Amino acid sequence: MTVKAILASKGTAVITIEPTARLRDAAKLLSEHRIGAALVLGADNRIVGIVSERDIVRALADLGGTALDEHVGLVMTRKVATCNQAETVRSIMERMTAGRFRHVPVVESSRLIGIVSIGDVVKHRLGQLEQESTALHEYIQTA
Ligand code: AMP
Repeated sequence: MTVKAILASKGTAVITIEPTARLRDAAKLLSEHRIGAALVLGADNRIVGIVSERDIVRALADLGGTALDEHVGLVMTRKVATCNQAETVRSIMERMTAGRFRHVPVVESSRLIGIVSIGDVVKHRLGQLEQESTALHEYIQTA
């Protein structure tokens, strides 16, 4: 199964924020959309980073409450790992595990076309395992 299948069922919407936004805006955005990370886009709509709930927690631990007034650009991760639609779900899982992150933006010809989270990956993997299990049961019953 590929990333394309995940995007086909969850859609291509990506919640984004500007690097000049404040951390309090980022926290509000993540809370409103019930997500764990927002992609940070520069003026030309290029990916300049990713800010996750973990970055906000780290900033709060380091700076206290004043962290919420800091710019997203200060705490985001600048080197963003991306994938393309043709990649397998297994390879995305491996990259998430090795890189210790739970979100991977999907890029095709330099264009942002979606984002895959660990929740999406687990949901699809479980669905696949259930299908395999049902097929095996049916096979055993008819054998
Ligand atoms: P997460 O587990 O996705 O909430 O993020 C954990 C840490 O990894 C945070 O510092 C994020 O900014 C960073 N991060 C999240 N996704 C990515 C990604 N695709 N590439 C690089 N870093 C990421």
